[in-house]
Amino acid sequence: MRPKDVYSKKITSEEEQGGYVIVLKDRLSFFPALGRRFQMIQNGRSRRAMLESYPCSCRGPELPHSHFFVRVKALKSGDRVTVRKDSKSGPRYLLQIQMHPRRSA
Ligand SMILES: [Zn+2]
Repeated sequence: MRPKDVYSKKITSEEEQGGYVIVLKDRLSFFPALGRRFQMIQNGRSRRAMLESYPCSCRGPELPHSHFFVRVKALKSGDRVTVRKDSKSGPRYLLQIQMHPRRSA
């Protein structure tokens, strides 16, 4: 599998609180276009997901920009999320959450 077919990220407390996974700007093309629904499979269950954005000022008021995210429920800080693209039957994404060791203990 080519690395560009996978999006993997460690969850931060911001993402835990927001209930989403941030999509870094240089990986936006991994997901379908903003607002376009796609299938996300988690534990054998399919649900609809989409790329969303919110305006952000973390670089100061002079540099307004957007952050992009996909909503994922029940994430905890320290979890690792891995999304794999499965294009065999249309745009489908497989979501895996590797729980932080402290959680599964
Ligand atoms: Zn920002």
